[in-house]
Amino acid sequence: MIWVFRPDAETVWYDDEVKRRLSWYRSVMVGEKPAKFLICKNILVEDFNGLSEQELWLLHDKAREMFVKLYEEVVEGSEKINFREEVSPNFLDLKIELVEKMIEHCIFCEHRCSVNRKAGFKGFCKVGYTSKVSTWFHHFGEEGPLLGRGGSGTIFFAGCNFGPCVYCQNWDISSNPENGVEVSPKTLSLICEELKDGGAANINYVGGEPTPNLHTILKSMKFLKQNIPQLWNSNMYCSIESMKLLSDVIDIWLPDFKYGNDSCAKSLSKVDNYFEIVSRNHLIASKNGDMIIRHLVLPGHIECCTKPILKWISENIPNALVNIMRQYHPDYLVEKFPQKYKSIYRRVSSEEMSEAYSYAKKLGIVYEPVS
Ligand code: SF4
Repeated sequence: MIWVFRPDAETVWYDDEVKRRLSWYRSVMVGEKPAKFLICKNILVEDFNGLSEQELWLLHDKAREMFVKLYEEVVEGSEKINFREEVSPNFLDLKIELVEKMIEHCIFCEHRCSVNRKAGFKGFCKVGYTSKVSTWFHHFGEEGPLLGRGGSGTIFFAGCNFGPCVYCQNWDISSNPENGVEVSPKTLSLICEELKDGGAANINYVGGEPTPNLHTILKSMKFLKQNIPQLWNSNMYCSIESMKLLSDVIDIWLPDFKYGNDSCAKSLSKVDNYFEIVSRNHLIASKNGDMIIRHLVLPGHIECCTKPILKWISENIPNALVNIMRQYHPDYLVEKFPQKYKSIYRRVSSEEMSEAYSYAKKLGIVYEPVS
């Protein structure tokens, strides 16, 4: 069963079923439980000085077993942790050590460029070692359960590891990795604290794309002392290694599932092997936190994209909440070159949206009525 947030609907936060499916996220949001990155700080790991990357991964796997045990105890309430305390060196320190090694031959995403970004080289995304943030604010346009009283504390990183998408609505920041202010991990943590102090329900890492900034994000959690859910708002083209680092610090995933096949992904977003990578990461995410999957319906892509995606979700992640989005409009390259992108130079028709919704129904998808 999948719950769908209708775009014209208000929040369904108080629906019991939604509450149940987002129970971890909700318990962190209201301060009943500590965010996962704070639990990581309570997992003592062996001294990892001088270890190779491979040895660090072995240590990570071992520490993860301890993390899972403690996390489960925290969930069921048999263990409480003081989230203001931390041990040293801890599981988060180990993740930071690993991410610093990974960026020397960057494998943050499945482009696997293998460039040393620390030494100034750039890969497909053209994002440098220092992260740039275009803007941050309390976002009230996200899904109802993500808002709370102060909206979603959304941080927009400049740059993207997709083409970017030819119809990108954030093209000004995704196509230009320089379009932002430099942020150190400490500065990023201060931005998070400011958002939390202003009532934000969560910290929402987005862009562009947050993946090329994984190192800055993990390191900022070292400085972040406040208890607030961490939200990963991504195209989900992360590498398997990045997913391993993220799995224990992200409380709620907000992934985009854009394409139902590799050829649409290649022609519209310039990425290879899309479906296998993105479906793999959705599965990993679903086992490591709550999630709301977003699917933006593209004009003329019901049969090739919308239907295969909904089918895959219903068969593989039946508990995920799904937002079938209708707000596509021609933008960026589609708007600039309407002849070239003629087939998507229009909005999605209401017939297409009805087709998407009725197919979802056929799969047993429940439309949350929302009032
Ligand atoms: S984040 Fe991805 S696209 Fe960017 S350099 Fe690393 S592997 Fe390449």
